[in-house]
Amino acid sequence: MKVIKNEKIAPDVFILTIQDKEIATTAKPGQFVTIRVSNSYSPLLRRPFSVYYVEGETFKILYKVIGKGTKKLSTYKANEKLDIIGPLGNCFIPGEYQNFLFIAGGIGVAPIHFLVNQIVGANSCLRLTTLIGAKTKTEVLCEPEFSNFGKVMVSTEDGSYGTKGMVTDLFETIEKPEIIFACGPLGMLKAIKSYARSHFIPCQFSLEQHMACGIGVCLGCAIPVKNGYKYVCKDGPVFWADEIEI
Ligand SMILES: Cc1cc2nc3c(=O)[nH]c(=O)nc-3n(C[C@H](O)[C@H](O)[C@H](O)COP(=O)(O)OP(=O)(O)OC[C@H]3O[C@@H](n4cnc5c(N)ncnc54)[C@H](O)[C@@H]3O)c2cc1C
Repeated sequence: MKVIKNEKIAPDVFILTIQDKEIATTAKPGQFVTIRVSNSYSPLLRRPFSVYYVEGETFKILYKVIGKGTKKLSTYKANEKLDIIGPLGNCFIPGEYQNFLFIAGGIGVAPIHFLVNQIVGANSCLRLTTLIGAKTKTEVLCEPEFSNFGKVMVSTEDGSYGTKGMVTDLFETIEKPEIIFACGPLGMLKAIKSYARSHFIPCQFSLEQHMACGIGVCLGCAIPVKNGYKYVCKDGPVFWADEIEI
């Protein structure tokens, strides 16, 4: 697929825009693509990335450079080609709610951004609150975008921006939502699960588990659920919080 743009938007964070009518018109929030970032054997495995946004015949991913694969991905330029499979996995189920809480930790903003855009596009009379958590100010992503759609609150672990502390500390200051959607580190999801359970709020998580094949063949992305195991790539990446044992 053709690269349209690969733009650095923050330290080590890029938005990659790809031309592909099929993914752009069929992808749903929560779904992901896998990218083969190199024609050589290094790195061998495809890397999974959530769909961040779709526009016309293009789709975007928001990614952070953390290792070999994402470093290589960041070198791609407009008009170069990438081997991409998608859309893969299941999607968030927005339901018929009016009062939504979205929680994004770090690069977990990517699938949440697509979801918020879709929910708002379908109904403009909703109450939306987004909590963004990051380690430090430069890692706070998409705050202006989320602000277009409702209330946004930010926390940073070092206190360099927003409220100092964990994103879950912000729970004390918000109105109880009807449903929660979240993506981010496991520790954050655990704390959200506990809050959601104690307040009887349904909650969906997008999990960013390591995976190799992305299509349910290698069984490398197993996560414990109530009655055994499920696979993040083919049963997820979106799960109801109560379903998974985290
Ligand atoms: C369904 C899904 C959706 C994702 N969506 C996004 C996205 O939208 N944007 C984005 O930036 N990233 C996303 N990720 C994570 C992304 O796939 C990894 O960051 C990427 O695979 C790292 O590749 P690398 O070669 O750069 O790093 P590697 O060299 O493979 O790894 C570098 C370090 O990061 C750790 N690591 C690698 N992958 C993961 C992971 N999945 N979770 C936790 N730690 C990891 C490794 O243990 C290692 O310590 C997603 C992952 C999944 C499973």
